[in-house]
Amino acid sequence: MALLSLSNIHKTFEKGTVNENHVLRGLDLDIEQGDFISVIGGNGAGKSTLANAIMGNSTYTVDSGSIIFDGKDITEDAVNDRAKAGIFMSFQNPISIPGITVENFIRTAKSTITGKNVRALSFKKELKEKMDELSFDVSYAQRYVNEGFSGGERKKNEILQMSILNPKLAILDETDSGLDVDAVRIVSEGVNRFHNEDNAVLIITHHNQILQKLKPDFVHVLINGKIVKTGDASLVREIEEKGYDAYKALA
Ligand code: ADP
Ligand code: MG
Repeated sequence: MALLSLSNIHKTFEKGTVNENHVLRGLDLDIEQGDFISVIGGNGAGKSTLANAIMGNSTYTVDSGSIIFDGKDITEDAVNDRAKAGIFMSFQNPISIPGITVENFIRTAKSTITGKNVRALSFKKELKEKMDELSFDVSYAQRYVNEGFSGGERKKNEILQMSILNPKLAILDETDSGLDVDAVRIVSEGVNRFHNEDNAVLIITHHNQILQKLKPDFVHVLINGKIVKTGDASLVREIEEKGYDAYKALA
C-alpha cells in the first residue's frame, strides 16, 4: 500500500468567476514508503498548489478527489492533523515570525506533533547537533524565526525543522530557489541525511540545480495540472534540452 495516494485531484481557484483557474485537473500520484521522488514542471504548472493541497493548507484544500495517507483518508483533515499524521512541508517562501525564536518554534511544533512534552535540555542538545550538521550557527536558535534571515538561512531553517520533526513524508517546495552553490550543497546533504527506507521525500522544483545533488528514484512531470510523464533522473536532462513544450501534447 502506498504511503500517500492522490487520486483524481481537482483544484480550481476563483471558482465560478471569470477568473476561474482550474489548476489541478485530475491529478493522480502515489508515493511509497522509502521513495525519493521529484515533481517538476514549469512556472505556474501547479507545483506549489499540489504541495499545499497535500499539506492541507487553507485555501488549497482540494475540490474533489481523494488523499489517502498511511492508510487513512485525510482529504478533509485540517493541516495540524496532517502534520500529526507525519506530513511536513517546506515552503517555497518561508515567512518570518517576529517574537518567536527558532528554538521555541521547533520545540513547540515537536511537542504538538508528538503530543509529548519535549524536555528543554535534551531538545537543546538535539537542536545543536542538527544545526552543526547544517553549518547553521547555533546563535540562530535564539533569533526570531526567519527575521532578517537570508534565503539560504531560511532554507536551512526549514531543513532543520524537518530533521527534528522527523516526518514520514517531507515535501520540499523549490528548496533550491535563491540558493548559492554552497547552500544547495548543505541543504542537499541535509535532505540526503534525512531520507531513509522508513520515510519518503518529495522534491518539487522547476529547475535542475538541486536534482544534480539529490538523485530522485523517479521524476514526475506536471503539466496542465496532471502528471503527464514519469521517468528516472535522466528525464530531467531530457526536459532541459527539449523544454516542457514537448510534453504539453501529453496533457
Ligand atoms: P508553480 O508552483 O508550479 O509555479 P502554483 O501552484 O504556484 O504554480 O500556481 C499555479 C496556478 O495557481 C497559478 O495560475 C496561480 O496563479 C494559481 N494559484 C496558486 N495559488 C493561488 C491562490 N492562493 N489563490 C489563487 N490562485 C492561486
Ligand atoms: Mg511554486
